[in-house]
Amino acid sequence: MAGNNMHDEATIFDVLKTVFGFRAFRPNQESIITSILDGRDVFAVMPTGGGKSLCYQLPATVMPGTAVVISPLISLMKDQVDAAVENGISAAFMNSSMTADEVADVYRLLQYNKLNLLYIAPERFAMRHFLERLKSSAVSFFAIDEAHCISEWGHDFRPDYLGLSLIPEMFENVPVAAFTATATQRVQEDIINKIGLRRPHIVRASFNRPNLFYEVKLKSKVGPQILEFLGEHPGEAGIIYRTTRESVMETADFLKSKGIAALPYHAGLSSEERKKNQEAFNKDEIQVIVATIAFGMGIDKSNVRFVIHADLPRNIEGYYQETGRAGRDGGAARCLLFFGRGDVPKIRYFIDRITDEGDRLIAMGKLNKMIGYASHNVCRRKQLLGFFGEDYPADSCAACDICSGSVEETDITVEAQIVMSAISRTGQRFGTGHVVDIVTGADTKRIRELRHNELKTYGAGKGKEKTYWRSVVDELIAQEAVMQEGDPYPVLKITKRGSAVLFGGETIMALRKQEVKAKAVREKRAESGEYDKELFEKLRSVRKRLADAHQVPPYIIFSDKTLQEMCRSLPFTSADMRRVSGVGDMKLERYGKDFIDEIRRYLDEKQGTNKSPDKN
Ligand code: ADP
Ligand code: ZN
Repeated sequence: MAGNNMHDEATIFDVLKTVFGFRAFRPNQESIITSILDGRDVFAVMPTGGGKSLCYQLPATVMPGTAVVISPLISLMKDQVDAAVENGISAAFMNSSMTADEVADVYRLLQYNKLNLLYIAPERFAMRHFLERLKSSAVSFFAIDEAHCISEWGHDFRPDYLGLSLIPEMFENVPVAAFTATATQRVQEDIINKIGLRRPHIVRASFNRPNLFYEVKLKSKVGPQILEFLGEHPGEAGIIYRTTRESVMETADFLKSKGIAALPYHAGLSSEERKKNQEAFNKDEIQVIVATIAFGMGIDKSNVRFVIHADLPRNIEGYYQETGRAGRDGGAARCLLFFGRGDVPKIRYFIDRITDEGDRLIAMGKLNKMIGYASHNVCRRKQLLGFFGEDYPADSCAACDICSGSVEETDITVEAQIVMSAISRTGQRFGTGHVVDIVTGADTKRIRELRHNELKTYGAGKGKEKTYWRSVVDELIAQEAVMQEGDPYPVLKITKRGSAVLFGGETIMALRKQEVKAKAVREKRAESGEYDKELFEKLRSVRKRLADAHQVPPYIIFSDKTLQEMCRSLPFTSADMRRVSGVGDMKLERYGKDFIDEIRRYLDEKQGTNKSPDKN
């Protein structure tokens, strides 16, 4: 198949529209697909929701023979196969959950070349019999999902994956495409070597998720705060992460008592109950799942509209992975973190118990970065991407609380001088808590013992709350006027830039949040992508009805984004419907009429209500 020019550009665009119902490729999809079609190996790092499955599902439908997809999670395999079948692609999976008869059926389909796509668990590659069957079938190419599992340097090593190195050896002329959402440069090289990819086309996509809005709010009473958020986002599906089983139960019960359809998920529940709750969430039977971080692996639900962290996460890696579960369909979604300083000692308690000193310091450093993310007035997106070594060049991302016009600059030079003078006069030997105590004139035992109440700056900042002065310290750290040094109890030190502010007449500006403005921006944003919420609810019920009848999760029928587009463009005919993103030929045929009928009925009703006053 190599070098075959049969699949020109027109063909793949045509398939993109007719089979998948999409108007355009996402970044990198086209180059990956053409490489596979040209018979070339591929290595691709793309973020969650970047659209990896299309990269192999599309060529699978175009190329003769069967594309073999290696995927480690049995629960996801079924979802992927269901989704492919809904698009009219012939697909099957083979894993350890199946009976011998079921496996034999799949072999038959494979042998008679009736499959475009076959999903396989990695352990099959250790079975001689399986390899022989595969060798005698027409394999168009191999796709390896979650390819980082082959690397011991990654965070999710699976020994079964090592067997995949047989593929390039045994199938000399068959291209292999490896995909992952997480790989540092080092892990990337390791993956390429371990599988034995042959001069692969390498793609490293940006980790930026433009459709996610990041925000941090100060945590006070988190239950009512969550409820307030849900009030602003009625009916939207979301995940709420909490740290402990107890807090998961508490929040789930609280939300239930307020009439929200919420269920808990944590390791203390029986595996049946966990499965049941996960499925209820997947099938849109409940709105919210309250979970510990145990939840999320192996969920493919694309219409998660928000992820809330009600407690401070321990590190940015975990946080980013969890927020990444929002908005996989590309539709707007929110990632909200409730940040309370009170969470810090709880995490430190666990970190302090790590016996290996090196590991403990690493964990501490990661926690400090997480605290920095939550407390610095720097674009959240810039901070997150920076953490993964990616530079975000734009001044404003327009989709985080800091950048969305919700902040304004103020001169805090005087406040900065008060804080830094307190730091300097006490010999740069104290941490934030004590420095803030001095500035606010607190009457503590420690202050009296050290006679810090005799300092000139003692009580110089009495007029403002402690939280305000903490935020000034955070700001000075963020702007590198002050730095933290030492562990486990870091002390504040003044940097060169700090000295320039303290003694050299330099000014320091800070960004202060203004909630009111933020709200106006949010409302404006909502207007631009506005759709009829009432109709959306109706279409959602149609989707739920069809999903139940077809025994698939609702998002496999149509994504939220597709329904919203229907609410905006109000398709009345098949031709209109076909133009909606996410509506391919198969789905148009199967479901088009149900949705068109519902839209018509709705508009008729609306017109009825609009007309009646005229008649009077
Ligand atoms: P990943 O596996 O990379 O996390 P998926 O393959 O699950 O991502 O894709 C995420 C979502 O994006 C799915 O709902 C998919 O249908 C949608 N999608 C993929 N490619 C496109 C595209 N070109 N246009 C619109 N939506 C797309
Ligand atoms: Zn931003």
